Formats: sequence, structure tokens, C-alpha cells
Amino acid sequence: MDSGISITAEKLIDYTAKKASFITVKNDELEKIVGISSKQMAEKVVDRVAFWLSEKQNGLLYCKLCNRGPFTKKGLFLHLTRLHRQEIKTMLEEELKREVKAIL
Ligand SMILES: [Zn+2]
Repeated sequence: MDSGISITAEKLIDYTAKKASFITVKNDELEKIVGISSKQMAEKVVDRVAFWLSEKQNGLLYCKLCNRGPFTKKGLFLHLTRLHRQEIKTMLEEELKREVKAIL
């Protein structure tokens, strides 16, 4: 495991959980986490992973990893970051590796 990828994945967990919970993120938030040069790549990775984390049904939020819910935005964020932290990190690592491979 490349340690750079592992560190980046760790840093992206909360941001990805926010996206999955439909919590508004600031425009420069991702740039602050990964730097301007990796921003575009990180955005792609985060969007892909966030898609697998949550589901909206009749305006209510559910966790796609364990089908629990419904949650409020904040409730889903806390659920994802507390119960699924390691899973989210692993998913981010896999997507980051795929992106890095595509660049090289
Ligand atoms: Zn869950």
C-alpha cells in the first residue's frame, strides 16, 4: 500500500461522508485537503465513493452500506464517519489507486 494514497484517503473520509450526506461543502474545502494540483482527481474519487454510501428515498436518507435509516443529514454523516470509517477509507484508497494508475 502506497502511504501517500493511504494518507490522502484518510484525509478525504469526512469530506466524502459530507457529500454522501448532502451536507453543503465550501468551494475551497477540497482544495484545502488535497491541494490544487490533485483537486480534480480527488473530486472524481469522492463523487464515485459518495454515490455508494447513501440513498435518498422519498426525500429521506439511508445508509447504502448497511441499509439503516432514515437519517437526517447530520445523523447520516455521524453514522458514516463512526460506523463505516474503515470501509470508506478502503473504498477511497481503491479509487485513488485507480486514478493514479490512469495518470501513470
Ligand atoms: Zn450504515
